Amino acid sequence: MERKQVLVSPEELEKQKHYINILKQRVSDLNLKYHIITYGCQMNVHDSEKLAGMLYEAGYQETDNEHEADLILFNTCCVRENAELRVYGNVGALKSRKQANPNMIIGVCGCMMQQKEVADYIASRFPFVDLIFGTHNLHRFPQLLLQAIDSNNTVVEVLDEQGSIVEHVPTKRAEGVSAWTTIMYGCNNFCSYCIVPYVRGRERSRRPEDILDEIRELGQKGYKEITLLGQNVNSYGKDTGNDYLFHDLLRDIDKLPGIERIRFMTSHPKDLSTGLIEAMADCDKVCEHLHLPIQAGSNRILKAMNRKYTREDYLRLVDRVRTAIPDIALTTDIIVGFPGETEKDFLDTLDIVKQVGYDSAFTFIYSPRTGTPAARLQDQTDSEVKKERLARLIELQNRISKDKNLKLLNSVTEILVEGPSKNNSEMLTGRTRTNKIVNFTGSKDLIGELVQVRIREAKSWSLEGEVVTQDE
Ligand code: SF4
Repeated sequence: MERKQVLVSPEELEKQKHYINILKQRVSDLNLKYHIITYGCQMNVHDSEKLAGMLYEAGYQETDNEHEADLILFNTCCVRENAELRVYGNVGALKSRKQANPNMIIGVCGCMMQQKEVADYIASRFPFVDLIFGTHNLHRFPQLLLQAIDSNNTVVEVLDEQGSIVEHVPTKRAEGVSAWTTIMYGCNNFCSYCIVPYVRGRERSRRPEDILDEIRELGQKGYKEITLLGQNVNSYGKDTGNDYLFHDLLRDIDKLPGIERIRFMTSHPKDLSTGLIEAMADCDKVCEHLHLPIQAGSNRILKAMNRKYTREDYLRLVDRVRTAIPDIALTTDIIVGFPGETEKDFLDTLDIVKQVGYDSAFTFIYSPRTGTPAARLQDQTDSEVKKERLARLIELQNRISKDKNLKLLNSVTEILVEGPSKNNSEMLTGRTRTNKIVNFTGSKDLIGELVQVRIREAKSWSLEGEVVTQDE
């Protein structure tokens, strides 16, 4: 049966526009500046673009310098303990500034705030924070900000209920050639170590027509590359009861003018369907890169993680993907030191890393998250052992990455030029379709263009090259 998607009502959006206008009247002439500090994944980065969009419409200007900001917003992530501790430290550090400038507004939002005990802790430990809100009510930011400006107490609004889908929130995207588009929210998978389903709710897919309209507009604005975002994009559409799934969406986006490259993340291996592999192979604009988190190489640990595939399933999947798209780059996420991980389990992880031969990997030491099943498991592995395993894994992956990059020496590859290189402003930087960073010398006029570059030097994390002229 078709499930009706829960959209935030046009009346609610009108109401928020009204609050933006009130803010605008208050803020105009004051030349107020905002600074947003974002933690965590690309979905959070894109949420920050929406927060920035609402502030920009209200007349605030962005500043990179936190010290000149009149409004500081922390958009938090609760996936790892380190990021949480950094939030506490950075919010705490603002106490004296707030005392010196009581008109400054400090807000904390994002995934961490969806955990009631954390939101309560922030409110009681840092009473100088003006505003606390969660992920499900991000669109209500204008109204909440206005309340915070007018109140002497901390304004707190964290909704427990499943978030709805909000369309048409003003968005201030990063300038450049690439843009993010969230296609779905939430996750149904409940991997035993992961807090996301508890804070982001169940899977909710946006309507295809809304996504296609947004991407068409991004193409008209000059963006060349789109990255489709979701905790598990492979299950796009399954919550709607319709038979329009992720591969249908990819095929439709592929037909849109303007956009030259399509990327997506993240993909749960258990939901990578034959239809999706075929669409990736057929669609010219879909890049030859797949981020496919394995998390662990031991079947015992994969089961404890509730990942719902075995290492054999995963290896078969990799074979099918490589048969359909031979030049595809594969990247992954790996957790080291999950509770109960033995040396043998870890050797299984090293083994699968060698067998697959990833182009790169994000590697982490397991971080227990309160409220998840894994946090209740007994963890007997010494932290020094975990660090030593991580170092071995990184050393292996770096070697594989470098070997893969060395194979590209002297080849010519298409680069989408993003801008000046971060480490050397004399050079330009861009990415291959396989998502490898390439630095090269060239005229700034090339920014935003697709160019052919010959690879001249290979490192573990990047490549260097030179533009191929037409006479070559
Ligand atoms: S698929 Fe697993 S790891 Fe990814 S967001 Fe969902 S629960 Fe978390």
